[in-house]
Amino acid sequence: MSDKSHVSMEQHVCIVCCKTFDTGSLLLDRRLRASMERYTTTGWGLCPEHQQRFDEGFIALIEIDPQRSGSASSSGRLKPEEAYRTGRFAHLRRSVFTDVFNTQIEDERPCVFVEPAVIDHLQAMVKPEEG
Ligand SMILES: [Zn+2]
Repeated sequence: MSDKSHVSMEQHVCIVCCKTFDTGSLLLDRRLRASMERYTTTGWGLCPEHQQRFDEGFIALIEIDPQRSGSASSSGRLKPEEAYRTGRFAHLRRSVFTDVFNTQIEDERPCVFVEPAVIDHLQAMVKPEEG
C-alpha cells in the first residue's frame, strides 16, 4: 500500500537547529492525486523554540566550517543550504551583537553564520547563551 496522499503536512527546516517542524499548513494536490508524502519540506524557517528566541531579541550565531561551505553569493551572504554546519550555535542579544561586531543587522534577520573561532571568542567576552 502506498502511503502517498493528496494532502501533505507542510514542514520547514529550522535555520538555526536544522530540525524540521510543522508549519501548521496543509498542502493539497490540486487534482487530488495521491502524489505527496505525508510531510513535505518547503523551505527554511524558525522552529517554535528559535522563533521565541528571535521574538525575545536574540540573534542566532551558527558556527560553520568555511572550508566546506559554499562561497558567499555576491550579496556577501551564505545561503543556508550551502552552509556546512558544525552543529554548534549560540544566541546573542541583538544589541550586544551590534556592539561587538560594530555592525547593524536587519530586524527580520534571525541568524548569522560565523567561523569556528567566533563563538569561543564571544564566550570569553560576553558569554552568549549556548543552545
Ligand atoms: Zn530551531
